[in-house]
Amino acid sequence: MSRRRRIYEGKAKVLFEGPEPGTLVQYFKDDATAFNNQKKGIITGKGVLNNRISEYLMIKLGEIGIPTHFVRRLNMREQLVREVEIIPLEVVVRNVAAGSMAKRLGLAEGTQLPRSIIEYYYKSDELGDPMVSEEHITAFGWAMPQDLDEMLALSLRVNDFLTGLLLGVGLRLVDFKLEFGRLYENDEMRIVLADEISPDNCRLWDVKTGEKLDKDRFRRDLGNVEEAYQEVARRLGILPEGGPRDMKGPTTMQ
Ligand code: UDP
Repeated sequence: MSRRRRIYEGKAKVLFEGPEPGTLVQYFKDDATAFNNQKKGIITGKGVLNNRISEYLMIKLGEIGIPTHFVRRLNMREQLVREVEIIPLEVVVRNVAAGSMAKRLGLAEGTQLPRSIIEYYYKSDELGDPMVSEEHITAFGWAMPQDLDEMLALSLRVNDFLTGLLLGVGLRLVDFKLEFGRLYENDEMRIVLADEISPDNCRLWDVKTGEKLDKDRFRRDLGNVEEAYQEVARRLGILPEGGPRDMKGPTTMQ
């Protein structure tokens, strides 16, 4: 990890200088945080699984024409991505009431929403990622109106596609968070999907039982956190060869 220049370290990932200009290496850690850093922990093998899950979903999204920063997976914990200028917004797409929305609006968790709802949050750890409106976003220059239109259109396409893909493996896509970046190429700017898509930033419930298979198991101390991430990878058919043992480093054979 020390051979390359570290560009940025976040809560769940580290970004290193990439092998060519305009690229970065995205390293997935096992660290987990919740409630704006107040709760911290380690989910063993999470980094390996999220690297795989995000690779799989970004490739699938690429195949339907969603531009993403993903280039290719490099190894168990790293992927090569295009360097983008991150737009300082978290775009949350919701299909079912849960988490902060259920609380804020007094809705029972699990209530199907009349239609998909998009929310924007301003990325700021100091402020605890406050929810903002399009008015705030354009007035403060975090994104131009046409950038917002593009992010909204892309988010809805991602939602429709992922909802179907996940339903196919028995998972209900309750809500998720996306981040976008600006990619400059030949004097042109394109908005592309960045960051990651994994059980760290999606709520995924088993279609039949309603069992939570995402980071809420960590946030709410529900137990079997590692197993939930493994189950999502297993259903998508992407558990690393050798099974879960492959992710934890050497373990004693039984
Ligand atoms: N989310 C995220 N990062 C954040 C906040 C939310 O990835 O900083 C994801 C979260 O996993 C969920 C969705 O966005 O899938 C909606 O989260 P919510 O606003 O309900 O907040 P939470 O209850 O997670 O605090």
